[in-house]
Amino acid sequence: MTSLGFIGLGSMGGPMAQNLVSAGHDVTAFDLDDDAVEAVSGAGATAASSAEAAAADAEVVFLSLPEPENVEAVVGAIEDGLREGSVLVDLTTSTPGTTNGVADRLADRGVDVLGAPVSGGASGARNATLSIIVGGERAVFEACEPLFEDIGEDIFHVGDRPGHGHAVKLLNNYLSNVALIATSEAVILGDQAGLDRETLVDVFSVSSGRNSANQDKIPDHVLTGEYDMGFKLGLMEKDMRLLSEFAGDQQIPMLLGHVTRDITGYAKTKKGHDGDMTRVYDFLEELMVE
Ligand code: NAD
Repeated sequence: MTSLGFIGLGSMGGPMAQNLVSAGHDVTAFDLDDDAVEAVSGAGATAASSAEAAAADAEVVFLSLPEPENVEAVVGAIEDGLREGSVLVDLTTSTPGTTNGVADRLADRGVDVLGAPVSGGASGARNATLSIIVGGERAVFEACEPLFEDIGEDIFHVGDRPGHGHAVKLLNNYLSNVALIATSEAVILGDQAGLDRETLVDVFSVSSGRNSANQDKIPDHVLTGEYDMGFKLGLMEKDMRLLSEFAGDQQIPMLLGHVTRDITGYAKTKKGHDGDMTRVYDFLEELMVE
């Protein structure tokens, strides 16, 4: 049993914290939203009254927060109280620069940092089947690997700097979002040409056009009318914005990357920050069809 702090108990953090409790760990949890804390304490975690209280006695502190600025704010609040020899694991989809900056700061206090963003959606978080993409020192990664196995299935160590995990995650989400936008356009065009939408995704999903949008996002969350991926448009817009920043830091131009960011930004304006990411299909349909 490891004593863990968990800060940020939303669609992803809540189920991950619950899975760590189920695996037998002593989890102290905090979120700004009392209902989120209640859900996790009902499953056996100890409710903390602040981020500082959740982190103070923990051997490993997990963060699952919306944006890099939330990570900076929470790290600023907890850093004085972190135990020497403890590990901070940032599961947030953040920027490599933020993660490396936090790691450099905390190294002075004898605290190790792993950047460990996840992929697999809210269902992957609930079922502990997430992909976890970890950057940081290999020895620290290996020490935390059993914890990652409690919340995920495919665990990758992708590089020795904490920010390497976040770099790979931003690139992955770029591919996922491009696939959703391109597949939405293809299905809308086919639909307008009189083709059946289910048939279109059936064909694409086993042919050379296959991707995660025609294999699950569109058939399971758009064509059903459910729009219940559990991933907010505002978070995808944030990921595309962070991808652009990352490309800018590397001084690498990205043509399609910036177009994808802007399409997602317009979709968020029209469908709302909390609209499901699959609402980009409706946004495009409204633009494309009279
Ligand atoms: P969410 O908005 O559902 O949850 C974020 C939680 O953080 C909220 O409950 C919020 O109250 C809390 N929070 C914000 N600031 C806080 C603070 N200062 N102290 C304590 N709690 C604070 O978001 P989510 O969907 O759980 O995503 C979390 C992260 O995981 C994001 O970076 C997202 O991009 C990433 N992610 C999400 C998914 C998904 O499918 N939802 C998949 C992979 C990665």
